[in-house]
Amino acid sequence: MFSGAVHQGPPQTDLSFSDLGLNGQLVESLVRIGFEHPTPIQAEVIPRAFDGKDIVGLAQTGSGKTAAFGLPIIQSLLVTKGGTRALILCPTREIALQTRAFIDIVGKVHKLKTACLIGGVKMGPQITDLQRVPDVVVATPGRLWDHYERKNVRLDKIEHLVMDEADHMLDLGFLPQITRILGVLPTKRQTFMFSATMPSTIENLARRFMNKPGLVDLRPKTLTASGIEHRLYLVDPKDTKACLLKLVEEETGSMLIFLRRKVDADWACRQLELEGHKVARIHSGRTQQQRVAALRGLSDGKHRVLLATNVAARGIDIPIIEHIVNFGMPDAVEDYVHRAGRTARGAMEGTVSTVATWQDKEIIRHLEKAIGKKLPRCEVEGVESWTERKQTIRGRKRLRRRF
Ligand code: AMP
Repeated sequence: MFSGAVHQGPPQTDLSFSDLGLNGQLVESLVRIGFEHPTPIQAEVIPRAFDGKDIVGLAQTGSGKTAAFGLPIIQSLLVTKGGTRALILCPTREIALQTRAFIDIVGKVHKLKTACLIGGVKMGPQITDLQRVPDVVVATPGRLWDHYERKNVRLDKIEHLVMDEADHMLDLGFLPQITRILGVLPTKRQTFMFSATMPSTIENLARRFMNKPGLVDLRPKTLTASGIEHRLYLVDPKDTKACLLKLVEEETGSMLIFLRRKVDADWACRQLELEGHKVARIHSGRTQQQRVAALRGLSDGKHRVLLATNVAARGIDIPIIEHIVNFGMPDAVEDYVHRAGRTARGAMEGTVSTVATWQDKEIIRHLEKAIGKKLPRCEVEGVESWTERKQTIRGRKRLRRRF
């Protein structure tokens, strides 16, 4: 189903937009902006949307969500006439502006009118847009509610509602406004909710305000695959090296260790060799021949452990690795996903262990949101887990709290 072509932007399917039921004029406007084939989320969502179903879509940003909900809404609005019939709620001004721009470009052939209601700018121009009775309103929840209370906008004709990046909206504290807005919308409508994660708050929202929604789950498999065990070793910065060495000693099976710096790879290689492990390394200081030999050695079983710096590791493809170790949390969730993809291929199982410190706290939070659960905290023998220390003002007592 997926095309192997080299392209910019999200991966695309081999399907065409007309296969999904879009009309000729819309397909033409899509070609003009370079959209030839639908992305996986578009291929899943658009036909179901035409069936009139409510949909919960779980997908990362950048997957092509905007067109997934925007296109069927634009086409449906051609059938009905009069009044503001579609409402798209977005977490941020930037996302709202981008969404409106997409609807404007593609909906132009059908002369659709839009308004964008976002905070931080004057209300006047937004009121002028609302007086022209837009077909589609794209809004952040706070500003939309302001307009509603001042009776600038009517929401009694809404047929299509989108809650885009719903988890992000809840993180920003928009639940009260969203609940109020949902309370004044017609109950007979089609509702789409998109979210990168599925915490219980999102499930509750779907249960309360949606009608038997279908689930389209396109989260990266490496994050959700049951075959992968994720482990987090949170230690004091001075203990990271000891933790890594102990991990290699405790675990059996092939291991690929990602390190940030060349010096760390050199250090770990020397140290592990001294401890009797069969180990090789690849980094920018190694010749192509040495790198190829290191990779082949791991596949042949000549050595069990391969150390790789982030840069050198890009593009390597080794079929079976039982254990991926991140020595330091990768800078982005995508990098973690990419690395995790080197284990648990097909039906196989694998482990991704990460040695991290308090400095990685933020990225750990992002990752846990993406996985939808807390990474299990693990320990190696002889290395204490890192805990947050707080001093109380009165008692000067030291409190230790696990992060
Ligand atoms: P979104 O997730 O909707 O923000 O889309 C992410 C990026 O992918 C945007 O730059 C879109 O213009 C682009 N995009 C979405 N769908 C397609 C498609 N079918 N073909 C090419 N580019 C696309």
